[in-house]
Amino acid sequence: MATETTLILFKPDAVSKNLVGTVLSRFEKEGFKIRGLKMMSLSDEILAEHYAHIADKPFFPEVRGFMQETPVIAMALEGDDVIAKVRDLLGPTDSKEAAPGTIRGDFGDKGGEAKMRNVCHASDGPETAAAEIRRFFHEGEIH
Ligand code: ADP
Repeated sequence: MATETTLILFKPDAVSKNLVGTVLSRFEKEGFKIRGLKMMSLSDEILAEHYAHIADKPFFPEVRGFMQETPVIAMALEGDDVIAKVRDLLGPTDSKEAAPGTIRGDFGDKGGEAKMRNVCHASDGPETAAAEIRRFFHEGEIH
């Protein structure tokens, strides 16, 4: 087992529905450790970088608008195999396809925006995790 750090964003749906504490407690119950935590508004520039892999999709402008509805909460979370385990805890991108008991299954949108309003972002691999932590945190903000 590898000790890793992943980057999580509590998206504006989590912030506006007061779900941050509930979701964060699921991560803490797994024994993962918070290494960085902050609230921030996301610029067009950081979102273009973060979502470069979907920038050419027709839904990208809607996703950008969604991610700017409120500030997000960014978190660096450390633990054994935390990257894959947090992806499992979240469930798939489409909240309607996410099983009950997963974060997206329990708290994601169940209507027409189920693919977009899915509570949290989490890094999908060690390289993206390292790049995403650098993207959202300054060196002195990781403890
Ligand atoms: P994930 O966040 O599960 O890794 P992606 O990297 O594929 O998923 O997509 C980034 C984000 O873009 C998703 O979390 C979601 O908010 C949004 N998104 C993805 N696909 C769609 C879609 N078909 N329609 C609307 N929003 C989408």
